[in-house]
Amino acid sequence: MITPTAFTEAIPDEFYQSLYQTSEHIFTGIKIDNRIVERVCQLLDERDPAHGLSVEGTALLLHLVRSSPSPEAKAAVIEAARKIRGNIFGQKVATMVPIEVTSYCASTCKFCGWRADNTDMVRLAITEVAIREQASILANYGFSHFEIAGGDDLNFLRNDLKNLIAALKEETVKVNPDSRVSICLVPMHEQQYALLKEYGLDCVLTWQETYNEDLFNYHIPSGPKAWGIDLDYRITKGGNGFLERLKSQEKAIRAGLQVGMGVMIGLADIAEADILSVIIHGRQLLKHYYGQVQPLIIGMPTWNPITTKNTDNRIAHGFNFDAADNFEMLSAIYLLAFPDQYAWVFSNCRVGLNVQLESIETASCFTSTEVRIAPGGYLNIDDSNPDEKERMFARSTVAQKNLTKEQVLSGEQFTHYYHTHNDFVNQLVSRGLHVVSDQSLLMEMRGKIPSPVGG
Ligand code: SF4
Repeated sequence: MITPTAFTEAIPDEFYQSLYQTSEHIFTGIKIDNRIVERVCQLLDERDPAHGLSVEGTALLLHLVRSSPSPEAKAAVIEAARKIRGNIFGQKVATMVPIEVTSYCASTCKFCGWRADNTDMVRLAITEVAIREQASILANYGFSHFEIAGGDDLNFLRNDLKNLIAALKEETVKVNPDSRVSICLVPMHEQQYALLKEYGLDCVLTWQETYNEDLFNYHIPSGPKAWGIDLDYRITKGGNGFLERLKSQEKAIRAGLQVGMGVMIGLADIAEADILSVIIHGRQLLKHYYGQVQPLIIGMPTWNPITTKNTDNRIAHGFNFDAADNFEMLSAIYLLAFPDQYAWVFSNCRVGLNVQLESIETASCFTSTEVRIAPGGYLNIDDSNPDEKERMFARSTVAQKNLTKEQVLSGEQFTHYYHTHNDFVNQLVSRGLHVVSDQSLLMEMRGKIPSPVGG
């Protein structure tokens, strides 16, 4: 049961550091028998909207993903999630778009095309002019949520981020007054998040990758992500980037921001324990910061191949989790696990269009469309206009004036599925869904949030 507690004290480090072990213990302790369909149906019938599922109940559903994939029980989970998604969000879905600002990165995550040691990758960083230009293009497509994302570039964080947030907000509210801005960058501290909020920041997205500390340190061996940063945006010598990352959501909540969380699905051998860790973490935030937490955005990153094939580590690491096949089911479990209103399951374009749409119909009210994950990816680049390119790109490993649109897109962080916003909206409409701003979802939900949280 989630009950409110005082929230002036921070959540102890021990909670974070024991999360994965706790989750693994709960998941592996669930006994599976031939009554699984009956147990799942009873669990779904007894789900309390103010609490969501119990952690043990969620662990039982996670066994349906791989260890006990009863089609009948899975169908019951999807059906229950669709009903609850309809009750909470109706036919509404909000769309977001990432704007990558730099592919220069000082970290070396093994799964990422932008890792510092990937010398095959074209590197780019855009100017404020380019962010304003893209913001205007994207706002006119109909977006109202814009995510600033990029590699771990500490000079950029220190010197440019504030102004880019302000510029992005300024350009987008001209077109859509509901516009909101998020960041998906190096985890920062409460004071830094509070400062960025003054410049227009609304939301911080931090994907943990994995809650298993040894695995995190294996995949993320060096750089700001491995060690964390201090209040001067410098790498913390001997720091614990794993823990700093785990605490990012808490720090952002204390600064008054909405937060997103999630793991890279399948990075851990027991992927289900990682997913359960997200749920226990999120429920703890809801309990500890009752009254201060906006709905949690639950992201579902997957390990996709990278654009520089010769330096792709995915196959060599034996990665074999079928994210697409399990995406809808996992989005359903995330929705059911949290109290109603508190989870915005975030479907992304790392899976194919149909999988993404099914996940939206089942559980997700927040999704990405039109995604280009290269800095400058949305610009209408005229290959024959070198001056224009020098105005748009602050830095590049190819002389800016010679950059082509093809080279820009070759620098995407990983491979994904691309569909225009318009095509995507048409697909949503054909399924009876319609696009709203996430600001409007927040406003509607404010009056409905049960009080106290799960108490
Ligand atoms: S995942 Fe992020 S921090 Fe890690 S190498 Fe890629 S861009 Fe850098």
